[in-house]
Amino acid sequence: MGRITVVGSYVVDLMSRTPQLPKPGETVLGGPFQMGPGGKGGNQATAAARSGSDVAFVTKVGDDVFGKEAIKHFEREGFNIQFVHRSKTEATGTALIAVDDQGENDIVIAPGACGTMTRSDVLKAEEEIKRSQMVMLQLEISFEAIEAAIKKAVHHQVPVLLNPAPCVDFPQEWLKYITYATPNETEALGLTGVEVTDALSAQEAADVLHEKGVKTVVITLGKQGVFLSKEAGKGAWMDGFSVKAMDTTGAGDAFNGGFAHAIGSGAPVEEAVQFGQAVAALSVTKMGTAASMPTQDEIKAFLK
Ligand code: ATP
Repeated sequence: MGRITVVGSYVVDLMSRTPQLPKPGETVLGGPFQMGPGGKGGNQATAAARSGSDVAFVTKVGDDVFGKEAIKHFEREGFNIQFVHRSKTEATGTALIAVDDQGENDIVIAPGACGTMTRSDVLKAEEEIKRSQMVMLQLEISFEAIEAAIKKAVHHQVPVLLNPAPCVDFPQEWLKYITYATPNETEALGLTGVEVTDALSAQEAADVLHEKGVKTVVITLGKQGVFLSKEAGKGAWMDGFSVKAMDTTGAGDAFNGGFAHAIGSGAPVEEAVQFGQAVAALSVTKMGTAASMPTQDEIKAFLK
């Protein structure tokens, strides 16, 4: 079984449906309400663990009721929770999500405790990083924590997967240490200035990232699949799976978790992309983010 260390965010998703999103200053009546585990780190960790990997999650939660619920979720998913830190001062992160009848959403993320992760929180997990087959990162925690994780992984020659989401500015020198970068089309545009509309432009975007030092570029393109480029000028489009989508939130997280699991288990990158796409396709057939990640049995049955 592959070992993966995820250094990332945990927030609790607090989601209300509403016929119409409120305008500034407006209050609307909504319902029903749903609460569940979220945050890109937590979602990707869940997808990788359900796919079959041994996952250590390095994050920070508050000393509050949401923090206690988070730890119960991590235990249920079988994560190594030795590096789930508790903040005495900051609340557990929250995402306040409103979704209207057209599926449009408004989201306010308050990272809380996980936004205050320090270099030293990450360094405590150095031994775990060292024995991992992959370190998986996103951009929802402090840059100091991300940088510490990249440095330790590189020092111990552990491959680094960076899912450069959400679309924020980050130090570009990190890219030369990244083994796998997995932007979606919006993030690819933000990172490279290239709008991905077809295979030619996808390759152009991938080549900008190769030039900056990324070894393997995986651009995710929603239901159109993935553009995989292992070498400048030599990428290829890989179709996704056709399913009846119910809720596509967290599709990227599902993909990353599944992809990391497959790579960590020794699969070639093309096979890992298709495994990730299967995990993501299954996740969009269910509501929710972490809750919609498929189990190993569901993935096996789907790929049969
Ligand atoms: P999100 O921000 O909603 O989590 P994302 O924008 O990061 O998602 P996408 O590129 O939308 O990520 O999706 C990731 C992968 O999920 C795709 O490459 C594809 O394999 C799969 N996927 C997404 N939407 C669908 C869909 N409607 N049907 C089948 N597969 C899908």
